[in-house]
Amino acid sequence: MNDFDTTFIKFLDILDEKLKKDAVVDKISKNSDKNERAFKILISTVISARTKDETTAKVSKELFKKVKNPKDLVQIPIDELEKLVHPAGFYKTKAKNLKKLGEILIDKYNSNVPNSIEELVTLPGVGRKTANLVMTLAFDDYAICVDTHVHRITNRWYYADTESPENTEMDLRKKLPKNYWKKINNLLVVFGQETCSPIPKCDKCFSEIKKICPHYNSLKEIEKIYADFNFKKTPKTKIPKDKGTYVLKIKMNSPKTILVGKREIKFKKGDYFYIGSAMGDSMNLYNRISRHLSDSKKKRWHIDYLLEFSNVKEVNVTLGRFECDVSQRFNLVLDSIESFGCSDCKCKSHLYYIKP
Ligand code: SF4
Repeated sequence: MNDFDTTFIKFLDILDEKLKKDAVVDKISKNSDKNERAFKILISTVISARTKDETTAKVSKELFKKVKNPKDLVQIPIDELEKLVHPAGFYKTKAKNLKKLGEILIDKYNSNVPNSIEELVTLPGVGRKTANLVMTLAFDDYAICVDTHVHRITNRWYYADTESPENTEMDLRKKLPKNYWKKINNLLVVFGQETCSPIPKCDKCFSEIKKICPHYNSLKEIEKIYADFNFKKTPKTKIPKDKGTYVLKIKMNSPKTILVGKREIKFKKGDYFYIGSAMGDSMNLYNRISRHLSDSKKKRWHIDYLLEFSNVKEVNVTLGRFECDVSQRFNLVLDSIESFGCSDCKCKSHLYYIKP
């Protein structure tokens, strides 16, 4: 295990201690017998796709008053089923899938829920995420349910280095100790919904976690760099016409391979920090940065190629030439995109990356 792996396991232990909350689909099916429980977990997991927990709980509760097994599902008229599922997103597709699912369970599985991921993923509306969750909750088996929260947080903590939830699942199957398999989903979903969301609410996070969180500590270090060099966050419309150094915070919404000059570079989804300066005789921060931001520019610097496929989220400026000093400080904190924007200096890079 490397340092990131040990820290991540420590993080899961802290969460386990702090969050004692059952998964919503688990709660819904409590007090049912084994077969009915597996059926209810499967159905409410299908309903839960792209739907808030409270809505899944409400819809499932009403649905299970009328539908307790595959036969009930087959017999209930489709318009009534749609009405019951309606508060959940994509209710028409889900109702259609549930009907078909009921038929398959009767015809192929003697009205039982199959207990293997391979069989579960063949059912309509059931992907790997649902199948893993059913295996864990309904059959108490070892499986890892990776949804968007598990994918984001395991990557944010550098435990996984993947571009899709499916790849994260495979990564976790190789390295996550088995005693965390069943609980990781519940822990990270609750935490990901409330605190470590796509824009993390670090101020609300547990102090024990903040102390060890690599993402939080990187953000704090960046704040320190800004303070040490007296950077000011500046609206794009109010960039000063002075000479100075700038940091552009750039967002890549999806991974992309971009031809930068003659070099192909694979950019991951996430935030990038580009450090540049405007010190030449005919150059100032305003005309240099405005040029980067313009859609109609002729590409001149490395960064112009990246900006064609990304968005500048933040402009920070300071007066004076600190480009390489600032780059070297970033280099201690974040991963760099090697030899980017630094052809005429000795820096490793002027572009740095942090996972989303
Ligand atoms: S400190 Fe921030 S990034 Fe780290 S786990 Fe907490 S919310 Fe997530």
